[in-house]
Formats: sequence, structure tokens, C-alpha cells
Amino acid sequence: MKKLRQIAFGYSTQCNIRCDHCVAADSDESPNSKMPFAKAKAIIEEMAGCNVTGISFTAGEPLLFFKEINHLIRLCRKHGIYSRVVTNGHWAGTRQRSDKMISELIQSGLSQLRISCSRWHQKNINRENIVSAVSSCKKYGLDYFISFVTDFSNQDDAFEQFLRDSSFKFFPEPLIYSGRAKGFNRSRVFTDFPPNLCAMNPYLSPELDMFACCDAGTHFTETGFFYLGNHKDHTIDELFQKKEKRILYYLIGTMGLTNMASYIGLKASEIVKYKKCQLCENLFNSAENLRLLENSVKSGLINWTR
Ligand code: SF4
Ligand code: SF4
Repeated sequence: MKKLRQIAFGYSTQCNIRCDHCVAADSDESPNSKMPFAKAKAIIEEMAGCNVTGISFTAGEPLLFFKEINHLIRLCRKHGIYSRVVTNGHWAGTRQRSDKMISELIQSGLSQLRISCSRWHQKNINRENIVSAVSSCKKYGLDYFISFVTDFSNQDDAFEQFLRDSSFKFFPEPLIYSGRAKGFNRSRVFTDFPPNLCAMNPYLSPELDMFACCDAGTHFTETGFFYLGNHKDHTIDELFQKKEKRILYYLIGTMGLTNMASYIGLKASEIVKYKKCQLCENLFNSAENLRLLENSVKSGLINWTR
């Protein structure tokens, strides 16, 4: 049976706001690369031919390029591909504008809207925009959810209460300490010994580089662990196959990072101090740890199960 494939599609890294925690930006400079529209259309056609069943339009703010994204969504619908747009909700300043946007997206066949919300986003976007966007989704029957980015500190309690009081569908997402958030103070998180499994959706950048992880993976520059290659040298199918064949990627989603860290000698008392992406960086953005894991993957590591 063929594998079902999903991908985060980075049409452009441009954004109309500047969040202090943005993972898409490496520095003070705002990123502004963009995929040529004709290339994006051809890639979606190619993806349809190699079993891609879900595309999430992300990176910067996709709806800055509303016409093009709408066209790409229609292409997804034509091929039966589930489509999602990740947005900061800048377009929902009034109910009328929000209704217009959502009704057009749903006519094009959008499957789901993911609206970002956090104390960083909301320095730039009025939280009433979130209210309008959700109301329009409900009015036109578009599936939505709110991605509530948090560092799990009590500074976010008021935001969470707002989402709860509004009866919105929301899911807390851990802040990723990469990009602009790299230097943030890390709040302590109190949990027991979580396995730290990660589903790992791949990411295609506007420059047509593909990575095995759509979040912090692009920042593992010491080892390039998540880099799969560029579409100019490989087909989309080949790039997916590289992701699917690497045993270490498979183990991130099945064995989990905690067991891998323990296997190569990190003490349990150390492991619990890491957040998931940090632990991942410790394992795979270190040449020494990566070598240990690569060398043992087919012998000890893969059998390190209960
Ligand atoms: S809205 Fe998203 S892409 Fe834009 S600056 Fe904020 S985190 Fe980055
Ligand atoms: S844990 Fe690793 S694979 Fe998962 S999102 Fe973080 S960096 Fe990517």
C-alpha cells in the first residue's frame, strides 16, 4: 500500500507583521522570499501524482497572496487534496471583510483554517480579529482551529481564558525556541518523563528546499540533519522517499526522543530539563550525538524497546 503524504507548503516567507517569537525569521531582518506562482502550480500537480493527500499553506502569512493561494487551493480541490491555510488573521478587521475572505476561501474548496493566536501575535493583531474570523468560519461552515502558541507561563493565562470564554476550538502549541525566539528565557515546564514523540511533517520552502521537519528543523544547520534536498535536483517523490527511508526519522515518531537520548547516555535527570525541540537539537544538531545514533541505528538502537 502506498504511503499517504502531507506537507507544509511555504509559498512565501513574507509577513505583514513582525512577531518577536517568529520561527520563520532568523534575525531582525524580515524574510521575504517567494516561490514563483507557475512553479507552485506545477509542484502541486506533481504532488497530486505522488500521493500527497494534505497540503498546509504556511511559512510567512499566506493570505498576503490571496489570489495565488486561492488558485492553489482550487488546484488541491481538483486533485482531492486536503488543504489548510495557517494565518495570523490580519484580514479580519471587520465582520464584512472577514465574511468576504472566508466565503471566497470556502468556494475555492479550502478544507480548514488554522488561526494563530498568542501574546506575541496579538501585539500586532487585535484579538477582535480572531473573534471575527471564527464567526465567519462558523457562519460559512469552514472547519477551523486556533493554534494558541504559549511558553506555558502564567503570562498566557488571560489569553487562554479569552479563548475558553469565547468557546473557540483551540489547542496550545509549545513555543519553539528557534528563529527570533532563540534567545528567549526558557520557562521551566513541570512534567514527568514524556516520550517526546514527534509526527514530523515535511516542509517545502519558497526556494524549493525540502526538510523532514516543518518547525525547528530548518535551523539544524550544524549537521543539516533534516535537509532532504532541493527540487531542482530531485523529484517530489524522491524527496519524500528520502524522508520515509531514513530510520532515525522513523524512530523520532515511534521510539521518541527521550528513549534515544537515554540510549546514548543522557541522564534521566538531564532529559527532563529539555523541551522537545531542544532535546531534538541536542541529539541531531550535534555531530557527535548524531554519529552515535547513526552508528547504532541498525543494531542496538532499533532494539531498545521494552
Ligand atoms: S504571523 Fe507568523 S509568520 Fe508572521 S511574523 Fe508572526 S509568527 Fe512569523
Ligand atoms: S521535535 Fe524535532 S522533529 Fe519535532 S518539531 Fe521539534 S525539531 Fe522538528
